[in-house]
Amino acid sequence: MPKEIFPSSFECDCGHQSDFFENTVREMKAMSQKKKVYLADSAPEEHTIVFYRGKLVEIQCPKQAQSPKTKQSAPKSKPGTKRATTRGIPDTVKTDVEAIVQHFNTTVIRNPHCLYVPRYRGKFLYLDRQDYGRLSPICRLEYTGHMQKWSFAIYKYSDERYDEEEWFFPGSEQVDGTIEGAMKAGLEAYPA
Ligand SMILES: [Zn+2]
Repeated sequence: MPKEIFPSSFECDCGHQSDFFENTVREMKAMSQKKKVYLADSAPEEHTIVFYRGKLVEIQCPKQAQSPKTKQSAPKSKPGTKRATTRGIPDTVKTDVEAIVQHFNTTVIRNPHCLYVPRYRGKFLYLDRQDYGRLSPICRLEYTGHMQKWSFAIYKYSDERYDEEEWFFPGSEQVDGTIEGAMKAGLEAYPA
C-alpha cells in the first residue's frame, strides 16, 4: 500500500518517495473532493499521486505495469470494423488530437514544464494542463463529428464543474470550434 508521509511526501510500494510543497498537497486534496486529481512528481521516473475525496487513493508507479485505467475498458471491438458510435470519440480522432495537443505544447507553450494533457470520456475530450507537476482541469470539448466543430466548456473552479454556458472569461474569443482555439482560450483563462 502506498504511504503518506507527513506532511507532504508519499512513498510508493517500490520504495520511491515523492516530495511536494505542503501547499500543493493541500490544494490537491481540496480539489479532489468531487473527482480524482493527479499530482505527478518531477523525478526522472515519474510517479503520479492520485487523490480522491481529500485523500491519497493510489500512487501510479512507472515500475509497475500500466494501471488498467489507461486500457480501453469498453468491450472489445475489432479494429477497423466499427464506425464511430455516437457515444465515443473514434480512435482515429484521438490520434489526431494527440498530435494537435503535442504540437501546441511544443510550438506555442514551449515550456517543458507546462503542457496540455488530453483525456477522454465518452464523447468528451478533457484538456487538463500540467503546470510544474500540477495537473489542473482547464476545459472540456464535446465531439460533434467534426475536428473543427467541438463544443466548448470552460472549467469553473468556483463551481468545480465544466460550464458550457460560461462565455465571460478571458480568452473566450479564442474559442472557434478547434482544439487549438480551446487551448489558446485555456491559456488566457488560466495562464500557465
Ligand atoms: Zn514506484
